[in-house]
Amino acid sequence: MTQGQAQADLLIHDIAWLITVDPGRRIIRDAAIAVKDGKILAIGKSADMRGTYSGFQAFDASNMVVTPGYVDCHLHSSFHLSRGLADEANAQSFLFDRMYPYEAALEAEDVQVSATFAASELLRHGVTCFIDPGNYHPEASVDGVMSTGIRMLVSRSSFDLTKSVMGLLPDRMIEATEVALRRAEEVLERYARTDNPRLGATASFRGLNNASDELILGLRALADKYGTLLQTHACFSYSTHDGSVARTGMAEIERLDSLGVIDERMLIVHSGWLEPEEVAILARRKPSLVCAPSSSLHNGYGNFLFGKLPELMALGVNVGLGSDHASSGIVDMTQEMRCACCSYKETRVNPRVMPPETGVEMATINGARATGWGDRIGSLEVGKEADIVMYDTQRPEWQPLINPISNLVYSATGDSIRHVFVAGEQVVRDGRLTRIDERQLYQEIPKAVSRFTKRLKMNEMVQLRWPVT
Ligand SMILES: [Zn+2]
Repeated sequence: MTQGQAQADLLIHDIAWLITVDPGRRIIRDAAIAVKDGKILAIGKSADMRGTYSGFQAFDASNMVVTPGYVDCHLHSSFHLSRGLADEANAQSFLFDRMYPYEAALEAEDVQVSATFAASELLRHGVTCFIDPGNYHPEASVDGVMSTGIRMLVSRSSFDLTKSVMGLLPDRMIEATEVALRRAEEVLERYARTDNPRLGATASFRGLNNASDELILGLRALADKYGTLLQTHACFSYSTHDGSVARTGMAEIERLDSLGVIDERMLIVHSGWLEPEEVAILARRKPSLVCAPSSSLHNGYGNFLFGKLPELMALGVNVGLGSDHASSGIVDMTQEMRCACCSYKETRVNPRVMPPETGVEMATINGARATGWGDRIGSLEVGKEADIVMYDTQRPEWQPLINPISNLVYSATGDSIRHVFVAGEQVVRDGRLTRIDERQLYQEIPKAVSRFTKRLKMNEMVQLRWPVT
């Protein structure tokens, strides 16, 4: 060690393009990042940083575009075994005929496989932190997810009204209010205040139409007690909006506001169907919102046709991105950015709406703000956690490389991500997970599917249109 040299654990050098998403939104050519104890020690030009540090492992990032790790603000880790189960279904049928029966058929061991698979796909696609809206086996989710190295906010799902305008919940998912609250608190007690910096928890009710006022207020009190987020789905289709008005006389956001639960520590997923007064409430109360493009595009919810997220962002509301679930196909934040930006351009007939930089902010710094960990993750800045994604530019979608934000949002997919780091630990190397055996995981998936499909009436749920011989 030469005198004056500082110690670093890792030096990522010769980065072709470094997209920092720092407060100045700097993009640095020929950059380097020094990492120490999982945090970013320094960022700058490779030429300036060479010779400044010692003791490090060197990582050559030539030909790489580097971004912060993505924050997926909404992903059901228990839904990862449901691809192909819920196509061409409207909101009512999607939930009550497909996804709720699927969810009720899962045992803890199935959820663990699903959650491990979900986390592995998220990591391969550059997501280093995600928020799970919850299920009935949160411990199994945590065990599966934590084995991969990703960050997660876990929740226990809560419903206490069996019947809504949209349908009846399966027996296994129905709980009395006090039971739902007690089980939600057990999860918060166990996970909200651990010493694991990759794990947190939230209070969650799955939607307004199957939640009583007592449940919502009880979960708000628990979120306050444990210093966590309160999250819910709301306003994701005309049916949820209409169901709320029919039952309570209020639209969903109006009802939440009348209960006094909306503030900056609330996360509202979708918000695609809003009345003018609801837009005003959100602009006033400033919760974080989640745009979930692929689920609206897959199920035809109309969130882009009728959504007001560009206006709400212009009014200072924080909006992140969520890939929602594998049942709508892709779980890839790079593609979600494109879906969000391009869908708003198309539906507004205006290319100026949702520039690609906004898509990148939603997937990174806005998502980090939504988790409550905005001071730790979401951008590449000195002092933040070293959650780093590297895209391989030696591929057609990355050439020519004139404006990396354009290639990133309009051309690339998550499949061009080659390396991913969480807190300076390499969790994806050359497109494969480092902590788990993916070949074994791909053997576990069909076994889990055959277990839960025996409990479901699959023939009634899924009818292939083309003959299978
Ligand atoms: Zn969802």
